[in-house]
Amino acid sequence: MLEDVREVLITSEAIQARIVELGRQISADYAGKRPVLIGVLKGAAMFMMDLIRAMDIPVEVDFMAVSSYGASTHTSGVVRILKDLDASIEGRHALIVEDIVDTGLTLKYITENLIVRQPASLRICALLDKAENRRVNIPVDYVGFVIPNKFVIGYGLDYGEIYRNLGFIGVLKPEKYEE
Ligand code: 5GP
Repeated sequence: MLEDVREVLITSEAIQARIVELGRQISADYAGKRPVLIGVLKGAAMFMMDLIRAMDIPVEVDFMAVSSYGASTHTSGVVRILKDLDASIEGRHALIVEDIVDTGLTLKYITENLIVRQPASLRICALLDKAENRRVNIPVDYVGFVIPNKFVIGYGLDYGEIYRNLGFIGVLKPEKYEE
C-alpha cells in the first residue's frame, strides 16, 4: 500500500497535533453544553474518534452515511442518504464532522437536510478543505488543513474503498487511478 503513495501531504504527527488544537477550541466553544457530533461515514470515522478523544466536555456521537463518488475521483453533485441519524437533533447543538470539503455540494445537502430538524445550532468541522474547488458557499466553522486541489487518500479517505487505514494524508501515484 505504501508503495502506491506518490507524496505524503500531511504526516500522522501533524494530523494529531492539529486535532488536539481543534478539540480544545471546540470544547471551549461548547463549554457548558452537550453537543452531538455527527460523523459522516465512512471517511470521517477515524477523524471523529480522534477528535472526541481530544475534547474534554460531555459529547454524544451519531453517524450518517451519504452516497459518495464510488471509485471515481470526480463529484457527481448527486447526494443520497444511505444511513440516517439514530436520534433526533431537535433542540440539540449539532456539529457535523466531515473528512473533506471539496465542491461543498455534499455538505450543502447535509446541512439543508439537518436544519429542518430544528437543532439549537448547527456547525461544521472538516479535517480538510479544498477551498479553491468550492462551488457552493458553505460556511465551515472548524477546518483542520486547507489543501491544494489534489485527490487525497489516507486517514479515513479511500480510493476504491482502500487506503483508509493509512495514518497520514497522501496523494496516490497516477498509475494507481482507474486500476
Ligand atoms: P464535495 O461534495 O464537497 O465535492 O465532496 C465531499 C466528499 O467527496 C467527501 O466527503 C469525500 O467523500 C469526497 N472527496 C472529495 N475530495 C476527495 C479526495 O481528495 N479524496 C477522497 N478520498 N475523497 C474525496
